[in-house]
Amino acid sequence: MKIAILGISIECDTFSPILAQKEDLTIYRGNKLIENDLWEVRGMVKRLKESEQITICPLLWVTGLPAGPLERKFYENIKEESLQRIREEGPFDGVLLAMHGAMAVDGLNKSADTDFIVSVRQAIGNEVPLGIEFDLHGNITKEIAEAGTVFGAFRTAPHVDDLDTGYRVADQLIYVIGDRLKPQTYFIKIPIFIPGEKAVTHYSPAKELYQSLYEYDKIPGVLQTILMVGFVWCDAEWTGMSVLVTCKNDLSLAQQISQEIAQRVWNRRKDFSFGMETADVETGIKTASTSSEKPVYLCDSGDNTTAGAAGDLTLVLQHLIKNNAKDAVVTGIYGPETVRKAQKQGEGAVIDLVLGEEHSTLEEKKMKVKALIEEIGEPFYQKGPYPGLEGSWVRLRINDNLVTFHDKRIGICTLEHFEKLGIDPRCHSIYVVKQGYLFPQFEKIAKKNIMLLTPGTSDMNLENLPYKKIPKSIFPFQSDMNWNSEKNE
Ligand SMILES: [Zn+2]
Repeated sequence: MKIAILGISIECDTFSPILAQKEDLTIYRGNKLIENDLWEVRGMVKRLKESEQITICPLLWVTGLPAGPLERKFYENIKEESLQRIREEGPFDGVLLAMHGAMAVDGLNKSADTDFIVSVRQAIGNEVPLGIEFDLHGNITKEIAEAGTVFGAFRTAPHVDDLDTGYRVADQLIYVIGDRLKPQTYFIKIPIFIPGEKAVTHYSPAKELYQSLYEYDKIPGVLQTILMVGFVWCDAEWTGMSVLVTCKNDLSLAQQISQEIAQRVWNRRKDFSFGMETADVETGIKTASTSSEKPVYLCDSGDNTTAGAAGDLTLVLQHLIKNNAKDAVVTGIYGPETVRKAQKQGEGAVIDLVLGEEHSTLEEKKMKVKALIEEIGEPFYQKGPYPGLEGSWVRLRINDNLVTFHDKRIGICTLEHFEKLGIDPRCHSIYVVKQGYLFPQFEKIAKKNIMLLTPGTSDMNLENLPYKKIPKSIFPFQSDMNWNSEKNE
């Protein structure tokens, strides 16, 4: 049995003006997909390796830190190369796609995941089973539900189940191939927009809703139930939550279960809220500075690089300096000019900087500071959810606080990142990271975590975002709207 693996997995903030280029993504070809313990892909590989009669055909997989939309030419090249590899190495008994679900391509004017998935379906023909894996923050379409045979999506946020999800999709694909099944999928778009931070799966109602999927999966005839939170920093008509249920052969059962799940989600729509502590930047800094529990991790949620924002804003740093904060660590600021300036002067020098000079996503007041250059760092390879080569960086000391600037956008989301930047992730008082919800490795060591409701292209206050293309009737913008999962179409 010959099974191919391929895909593009990236989340795109369409409000960010910085397009993702070739150098922002990592391309894995052939055996590199199997050798690198890759997020999403590794679960598929694990399952395929368990069956001796399976030949794994690793084709091409592309991933990267969430970013602005992909540059059009780069996307078209990757798509063409993927289809070319399918033609050269096929035919296959089955195909696995490791996708995210919230990819956007500059100038494409349609859902990029749909474009890619439908192209793959056309290339392999209608008879070959196609298994697709998603992050639960994807914006799924009806065309995707029609193009795929079996599906899987994460059930945890923060994500800790990429391995299980990939494993499940591969397992179902093998089952479908072996039993020559023709599964039936029902899809429902739920008109709800919520930031992922309001659907963290340790907190109600996401906790119960996601737990219940395991129960639905046990119903005889059901292959898989999927609930997608969606990705709201995407101005598109296909943005929003969705439910997708696949049954062995019974479409009416798939319909009935998806309607039930979608209705339960709709009925709880007003309960989705931030489970973590939140604050405006001034209040958050004051609370952190006077906290008896240390370290305090502050998330700069409006400039969250793990949601695709540029990471160029120095707003929180400026507030810390104004508040005379000491012993704070501010990491992951995208500032290529600052890095170049420091590289010219060398370690040990003191330089004059104007914070805010490199803001591209938000204009704001600038602040002059003196910075001691503590370390100038080389690019390094980083594993984790966004494996790839991080750019050059500098660690500066500004008013007794440590600050890192990078010449490439970065999502600092593992303890290893801190080690590579020469920073202890536990011993300082305050850490500022460009995240929304705090990533699992930091959650474990933070004594306190506050999500700062800062402005930027990943603003948690959706009213602040310049939406133009999203559907007209969406909760919470139309807070009193009616909707019924049985009237879906
Ligand atoms: Zn996600």
